[in-house]
Amino acid sequence: MKNSSFRAAIAAVALLSFTPAVSAAPAKGDAPVTEAELAAHIKILADDAFEGRAPGTEGEDRTIAYVVGEWAKAGLEPVPGSATPWVQPVPFVETQALGGTAKFKVNGREIVPGDDGIILTGRDASVALADVPALFVGYGVDGAGQVNADVKGKLAIMLFDNAPFGDKLPRYRERRQMLADAGASAVLVVSNGAVPWPALRESVGGKYVRLASAKPGAPVSGFFSPEGADALLKAAGQDGAALREAAKSPDYKGAALPVTADFTAESAVRPFASHNIIAKLPGAKPDGKAVLFLGHWDHLGICAPEGEADRICNGAVDNASGIAVLIEIAKRLGQGVRPDRDIYFMATTAEEKGLLGAHWFADHPVVPLSDITVALNVDTIAISPRGTPVATIGRGKPAYDAMVREEATRLGRTLDEDGEADAFIQRQDGWALGAKGVTSLMVGGSFSDMKLLEAFLGSDYHRPADAFSDKIPLGGAAEDADLHVALGRAFADTKRWPGTAE
Ligand SMILES: [Zn+2]
Repeated sequence: MKNSSFRAAIAAVALLSFTPAVSAAPAKGDAPVTEAELAAHIKILADDAFEGRAPGTEGEDRTIAYVVGEWAKAGLEPVPGSATPWVQPVPFVETQALGGTAKFKVNGREIVPGDDGIILTGRDASVALADVPALFVGYGVDGAGQVNADVKGKLAIMLFDNAPFGDKLPRYRERRQMLADAGASAVLVVSNGAVPWPALRESVGGKYVRLASAKPGAPVSGFFSPEGADALLKAAGQDGAALREAAKSPDYKGAALPVTADFTAESAVRPFASHNIIAKLPGAKPDGKAVLFLGHWDHLGICAPEGEADRICNGAVDNASGIAVLIEIAKRLGQGVRPDRDIYFMATTAEEKGLLGAHWFADHPVVPLSDITVALNVDTIAISPRGTPVATIGRGKPAYDAMVREEATRLGRTLDEDGEADAFIQRQDGWALGAKGVTSLMVGGSFSDMKLLEAFLGSDYHRPADAFSDKIPLGGAAEDADLHVALGRAFADTKRWPGTAE
């Protein structure tokens, strides 16, 4: 059902691409992107009918149909030779917890945390573990980013937050995987309380999505609430606050606890496919180098527990705003003077599950990664008003920095080069490409005014409140869209940009 309607939608938009969308436009400047144009796209993509754009849902089909339709109208084409025009299938496995038990033995005493203290997921359909020795591992890694304790056959209790002793250290999903790879029988992550427990339960606790090609996790994974962890540590004669403090050292080696655990977990394991949306604007004078624009289309889907009035995380700012910008960039570049180089546009899936669509593309690129002269990622762009300085995540290569500076200055923007934005480098899709050697930049005002960004992250972010409203600031996003059009033209210009600069 879902797939056939989806194919019909793709076939309908594919037809559009055979009609020449544009005749050669006169060589004049690109029309500025307006707040109204962006609002129109965000309103549609963040509509309840899209159900929060979770991968593998009908909301995905609607999202693909809309984005492909807009890109085709803009003059983009499917990547030639693709067996699945406009989309790149990405295979996933979802594990949904059906039920489970956790029982801890502490000095002969039994402790059974309630639903308010622990969330469990089994890796396989049915898991049973007994007498697993427990270890508090702090962040699970040392200052060099290596696993910090012998966790083989053990329960590792790990902190969620990023380690405070290095800004390039892996985030919790990667650390959890590292502990699993090191042989941990179970990994329980201690939540930091920032996401309300019922929401964590609903959005990440009960369901776990990984690439079908990824290494399996530990037999048992899950979360402790801060209170649930503290209660267990206290029963074990430990002070949770003191352990967290000790874990802040880059040399921390973990603490064995006088605790053993018994787990059972039943899960439904379901393979499914989602899709990266990929389109191409063929260059007028291609030289083998290419520019890639990307941004994630997915969001959290149904994210609030049953009984809540609004259960849909619509993801208006995160990241319908970025997709809206990618649509308007495509229209300017597709309909104005044709750039020299090929320009690729990609809307990724499953960014919210750990940049998974971007990682899949990085492992299965439709154009050799070494040909991508720059990747420009657009995420959570509707944060700041007009006039906000331009920050760049991924600064540090002088020729690239100079190009961004030149184009931003030409458009009347000021630069924010204090480097604060780099705190977010691992939290965006460009990271998956950067890890494979592609120069990936995230350019704009959203990551310049940290007060505005933190205000969003601390309120509507990843909650049903991130819905469309005319209060979303779109002035900065419109200016950033114009800057991206200019950057696309500059990096695709064979005379201005050699394509191999450092
Ligand atoms: Zn997000």
